[in-house]
Amino acid sequence: MPLRRLLFPLALLAAVLSAQAPAAKSYFTLHRLAPGVYAAVDNPGSSAGSNAGFVIGRRAVAVIDTFQSVPAARALLAAIRGRTRLPIRYVINTHYHIDHVTGNQVFADAGAVIFAQRNVRYWIHTQNLKFFSHPTPAQRAWVAGLRSPDVVYTHGVTLYLGGRQLDVRVLPGHTGGDSAILVPDANVVFTGDLFWGHALPNLIDASTAPLLTTLTQLSRWPPRPHAIFVPGHGVIGNRAALLAFRGYVAALRRLVAQARARGLRRQALVAAVLPELKARYGNWGFFSHFARLNLLETDAELAGRKSIPQPPAAGSTGG
Ligand SMILES: [Zn+2]
Repeated sequence: MPLRRLLFPLALLAAVLSAQAPAAKSYFTLHRLAPGVYAAVDNPGSSAGSNAGFVIGRRAVAVIDTFQSVPAARALLAAIRGRTRLPIRYVINTHYHIDHVTGNQVFADAGAVIFAQRNVRYWIHTQNLKFFSHPTPAQRAWVAGLRSPDVVYTHGVTLYLGGRQLDVRVLPGHTGGDSAILVPDANVVFTGDLFWGHALPNLIDASTAPLLTTLTQLSRWPPRPHAIFVPGHGVIGNRAALLAFRGYVAALRRLVAQARARGLRRQALVAAVLPELKARYGNWGFFSHFARLNLLETDAELAGRKSIPQPPAAGSTGG
């Protein structure tokens, strides 16, 4: 597949690059989680490529992530416009990965200001090419043309929509530039890719030790019981689902550490550990796509030889 470690069906690539909607395919399923709080969960095989969401206040609308294709972003814009005429004032990119930022320009054209953790502004153009095995000129142009954030923050920001607020908090573990967004009045958290719902994660940039701490913090963040967690991929979950995902990450680390202690490395480690991982998590989404990679990346991480994105040098604008 053209995106080595993301979730991009080859058949849709041409459609995305030419901004044509694939015939008769809806990009996402909209879930109303609370009044004015919506999650857009990507339909498997569509070019949405990830989950997104939006929150409607009394004065303004905020959008969380913009999908992997322009047509999917346009469909999200249309879904918002079908519910309110209020200005779409803010977009928050939960992280830089191409499956969450490709539609930024659609919302910038609609008047939104795009917010993200400061590394996103740099990494959006310097890191996204790695998801293509052999990038074509069109794919290079796609990455170079991604609309970068207008406003960056280091630890977080609070956005006021009129009558409600979004608390945006930076948390480590997935890329080093991830934000989660709490809607306090609705008891909803949009986690980006810090949480995957009943699915194996993309760990290409991950640091799993801080990710475990982050997931514990996320589970305690919403102010009331019965919180809803909208993952970056997979199905919407509750606190138990979030902690089940944490359990996966903990199990992955434990199994890899035990195999390393027996002297196993790389492919030999994968061969030894994969059956047990499959017995426990084989029915989770993306297992066949990510299980081997998760094992290899965690092996590299525990060996201290995993390379992850580095923040830009001081003073660099990121273009
Ligand atoms: Zn993603």
